[in-house]
Amino acid sequence: APTPYDAIIIGAGAAGLMAAFTAGQRGRRVLLLDHAEKAGKKILISGGGRCNFTNRDTAPDRFLSANPHFAKSALGRYTATDFVALVERHGIAWHEKTLGQLFCDGSARAIVAMLLGECEIGGVDIRLDHAVTAIDRPDDFRIATPHGSFTAPSLVIATGGPSIPKMGATGFAYDVARRFGLKVVEPRPALVPLTLGEPDMAFRALSGVAVPAVARCGRAAFPEAALFTHRGLSGPAILQISSYWRNGEAITLDMLPGHDAATALLAAKRARPRAQLRTVLAELLPARLADTLATPGNLADLPDKTLAALGTRLNGWSFTPSGSEGYAKAEVTVGGVDTAGLNQKTMAAKAVPGLHFVGEAVDVTGWLGGYNFQWAWASGWSAGQVL
Ligand code: FAD
Repeated sequence: APTPYDAIIIGAGAAGLMAAFTAGQRGRRVLLLDHAEKAGKKILISGGGRCNFTNRDTAPDRFLSANPHFAKSALGRYTATDFVALVERHGIAWHEKTLGQLFCDGSARAIVAMLLGECEIGGVDIRLDHAVTAIDRPDDFRIATPHGSFTAPSLVIATGGPSIPKMGATGFAYDVARRFGLKVVEPRPALVPLTLGEPDMAFRALSGVAVPAVARCGRAAFPEAALFTHRGLSGPAILQISSYWRNGEAITLDMLPGHDAATALLAAKRARPRAQLRTVLAELLPARLADTLATPGNLADLPDKTLAALGTRLNGWSFTPSGSEGYAKAEVTVGGVDTAGLNQKTMAAKAVPGLHFVGEAVDVTGWLGGYNFQWAWASGWSAGQVL
């Protein structure tokens, strides 16, 4: 008897929904399984509930991967413009917030409804609350769940990464990859707040203070806001740099980008020797940060060397985070299924006919700002073309 499905997709998130309706609308019989009770849960909470669904400036250099060329094909074939056209076909109002980041005017629910609507057009059979208990491959793929087994010649793993386990995120994709002989690039939490240890204790008093900054680690640099928290640092500049940071490495934070702070402090000393250091710093920095950094006394009392050293520190405070807030707070996971084992055009495993990996499960991770969804759409669409 013929198998009832051409393809089974595990994971009804961004990439799985995209792959499902793309294949369904090509006439394929698609089964979409998810262990959650609802499709697209991460989409619903994304972008503060408004879903930063893509980035107008999507380009391959905004993605991290052991192979920086891998993502080019999919990103080139299904672009941000393609996704915007889909959003507009569904009458969803959107706006650009900043740095090319496109958000819904209303709720992220509209994006999930759009994807589910497209799945319906494609006749996709969606089964939620279906935990996968076993996968084997006697001939076709056979997927066992507590509600029965399903078979198909193609299988797509779209279960994302382990970030935010309390939402049901798992390392399931990595287990499947290893089971079929694919390699996994060591996963790490990314787009995640960083923590400070004992030596930087003083900064904890600054919890809630934000500064425009440039965060740097190695060759990566992000000019955005940094935010002090009760555990360390967050804010876009820190989240972005966290994806490039590894345990033990130092990060530098320029808290006065575009100013030579040492020169400014020395000039202030000449012009206003009686001014308090705190007063001068508060003209350049948020008041609470100025309070923490300033020593009492006026500028005339401070040696030039001391002021120059303070200035240098303002332009490049170097600190070694004690760690990150981990998967519990990470917006994404860097690393994942090694792209060396995948076809860049179809997301198919080179050595396992019919098996595909899409979305965050793959070792392709975007910057903050809609890039991770664009990867999910593009990789899901690419797989959907060949199922
Ligand atoms: P997911 O969307 O995570 O979908 C995976 C699906 O697989 C889920 O439905 C899950 O229930 C299911 N699943 C997992 N394990 C199993 C299993 N063992 N069996 C069966 N099903 C399983 N990115 C942006 O681009 N813009 C944003 O605004 C944005 N905001 C974010 C906000 C937060 C708080 C978080 C956590 C992430 C945000 N991201 C954002 C990142 C983005 O959500 C992910 O990169 C994207 O959802 C990945 O899509 P995916 O389809 O690969 O995985």
